[in-house]
Amino acid sequence: MPENTVPRGYRLQGRVLDGTVSAARERATVVTEGDTIAWVGDTFALPAEFQSHAYTLVDLPGRTIMPGLVDGHTHISFGEARSEEELALYTPVEFRALKAVWNAKKVLQAGVTSAFDAATTYNVAQSVRDAIDSGMFEGPRFAVSGRQLTSHQGLEDSFPSEMQFPPGQAGVLVKSRDEIVEQIRLQVKDGVDAIKVSGSNDSLVSSDAIDGSAFTFDEYRLIADESHRLGRLCTVHARTRDAVRDAAKAGFDVIFHASFIDDEGIAWCLRNGCVIVPTLPLLVNVIEATGGPGATPMNAVFQTEVDAAMRNLPRAYRAGVPLVQGSESGWSPIPYGHWHAREMEIFVRHFGLSPLEAIHAGTLGAARLFKRFGDRIGKVEAGRFADLLVVNGAPDRDVTLLQKPQHFDFIFKGGRPVDRTPPAPRRQMGFERHKMFLNGVYRYDADRGVGQLVR
Ligand SMILES: [Zn+2]
Repeated sequence: MPENTVPRGYRLQGRVLDGTVSAARERATVVTEGDTIAWVGDTFALPAEFQSHAYTLVDLPGRTIMPGLVDGHTHISFGEARSEEELALYTPVEFRALKAVWNAKKVLQAGVTSAFDAATTYNVAQSVRDAIDSGMFEGPRFAVSGRQLTSHQGLEDSFPSEMQFPPGQAGVLVKSRDEIVEQIRLQVKDGVDAIKVSGSNDSLVSSDAIDGSAFTFDEYRLIADESHRLGRLCTVHARTRDAVRDAAKAGFDVIFHASFIDDEGIAWCLRNGCVIVPTLPLLVNVIEATGGPGATPMNAVFQTEVDAAMRNLPRAYRAGVPLVQGSESGWSPIPYGHWHAREMEIFVRHFGLSPLEAIHAGTLGAARLFKRFGDRIGKVEAGRFADLLVVNGAPDRDVTLLQKPQHFDFIFKGGRPVDRTPPAPRRQMGFERHKMFLNGVYRYDADRGVGQLVR
């Protein structure tokens, strides 16, 4: 590709997967013009107007041209936090925002051209979205929810009750119907694309988090109605059976996790058109990397949930509930730029989806989470943004290729090749982590007359 010239567009010649579940076109061409896809079709049918030298020809034998990945669940403001304390208490908000734009480039360099941010600390995600959209920094196109609305029974109210709710928490405590309405209106004023609710607790935080619901059905309905009245998507963190059922029944658009969904929950999802984003890579990664399901009591709790999800969610999918892939990137087991296509592999290996169905769940199927520009992303189609991946090989045969950016020849966002230079390594500052200043408990060793570190 010639350098230092600005072509009218590109003429990419290879095999094309368009983001639907249609089989690949084997000898196809995608023409880009400015930030948009101008034409897609079989190469022999390329109109004369696109054969001009103004379009830089890139011949891509053995390569697949497909939509850029869409990650349905990220937390760009979380900074790879290891705990609620790190997230809620440490790192000044200004530093979080700068770190988030630095991390956003890594997400884009993994082939993710659009990402849904499912809860932010402060209003960092809105600013990251806008800073990228305004052209200051490189990163995916974001759609963002604000801080998730929680009750005392939801995720995020995780500190002792005598403490004030920390302002850095990725949630906000709402104690009445009035506070629910006020919070939704405030977040809409502050520029969210979606409202997110913490509908259940979380097995990451509490081992008894597989039952119950953080809000009543009437409260879910109030949240859904007010969010929709203000033109926003309505989303919920719901791991438990009751939270999934009530949020789906109330008309929420997106259910995150849904691991313990039952037949009633599936029926409400179908009736109200809810989408499920399982977001299993976090639990699966922790279990796999720390010695398996029996290695720790926490892993056993995680495995209970993973088993339930692998039983219930394929059933929901076969019944007709759409699945979208999400990574949960932003927590420390899911560092930015590494795991954004992991759930596609889980869908194929454990849910029985075909690779094409999994790719759909990570491209066009995920576009529905983006009210902002959902009709312009997720598909290789004339008129949509030229957000494209060029993959060496056939991800429709081996979906794990999408987890290996070294197999990508190009990533295009808005018709321009993405700079692939990795960010320079950085030093971690002391204020980003727990302030752990003593390293344990020392027992007096009477024989040796010295202290001995015991835990
Ligand atoms: Zn999350």
